[in-house]
Amino acid sequence: MTIHPVSPNTVLANALHHAEDVLTPRVLDAAPERIVSTGGTQINGAPHIGTSLVQTLAFVTAARLRDKFGVPVEVRFSALDNAPYTIVTDNKSGHRYQRAYAHALGERGIADQVDSLYRPMFTAMSERLRVPHSVETYSRQQAAEHFRRTWLRVLPRMDAARWRLAPSLSRTHLRVPCPQPGCGWAEKYAERTYVQHVSAERAVVSAVCLHHDYYEVAIAPVGARYLDLSTLYRNLVTEIAATGTQKTTEVRVKCPHLADLAPGNVIRFRVKGTDETCDVRVRQVTDYPDFGALLDGEGAAKVNPVATREEQLASIRAIYPPEKEALGVLAVRIELLCP
Ligand SMILES: [Zn+2]
Repeated sequence: MTIHPVSPNTVLANALHHAEDVLTPRVLDAAPERIVSTGGTQINGAPHIGTSLVQTLAFVTAARLRDKFGVPVEVRFSALDNAPYTIVTDNKSGHRYQRAYAHALGERGIADQVDSLYRPMFTAMSERLRVPHSVETYSRQQAAEHFRRTWLRVLPRMDAARWRLAPSLSRTHLRVPCPQPGCGWAEKYAERTYVQHVSAERAVVSAVCLHHDYYEVAIAPVGARYLDLSTLYRNLVTEIAATGTQKTTEVRVKCPHLADLAPGNVIRFRVKGTDETCDVRVRQVTDYPDFGALLDGEGAAKVNPVATREEQLASIRAIYPPEKEALGVLAVRIELLCP
């Protein structure tokens, strides 16, 4: 029987000395190679003071995390150019329709807004705190293959998340702007938007345009069709997409058939007892004389975040006898490619 705590009591008033300490357990568990602090802002004109405050905190928190844990940090500014530029009410249905900044201003127009209204403060914060920053628009994010593949993977499982993402109505919405040239209108609350998951490579979304009536849009991992997810839905996909690219380290003995293993190689793992496979790309291969040296060199948490160094050493040595270990061992840093 699994026992769950009955009260989600997370009041830390007397236990917390600094705000960034809230993240300490996660940083210790994950032992990250770097920390990216992300802040999303709707691109809809000059930022108000609350927006600037949140962005400043993203930089300050990143700087404090770097000083506390000694890992490189970065601030990623997510420019939410899917924010509504114009909202109108359709007289026929009474539904509200929106056209996003991305469709009204285009990529160049959005870049100009970011450069004139946000960039000067980011540059100043980066220089003062020695924290680099990058800017990514939502339009670019949704167009990326990994993001779209992650959404396609999440889609059939959305039932499990809907009450958490939308506690009042249980309805998480997405928009696909009308694809007619020069149009781009979409129902703001997606009342008549329906999603059909066809396969891991394809979903079909149907909706009703303000001007062009019923339309269908196919969303594939690669393609120009715009996928506009509501805020929490997007955050869910963003988080899962980020986890899916986390690097891990595999341990192997230096058998002759691994002599040529090099960064860029793709390895296919088969899930035991099934036909399922998972591809990983080799990022780095490092030689060590034995398993102890490997765990010290790589950091035990990178190999297995939930076991101590001694536990890992015992379990690896249970698999590989001393004569195998004597061949030398390899730490293979990998990146998951499978969905
Ligand atoms: Zn239209």
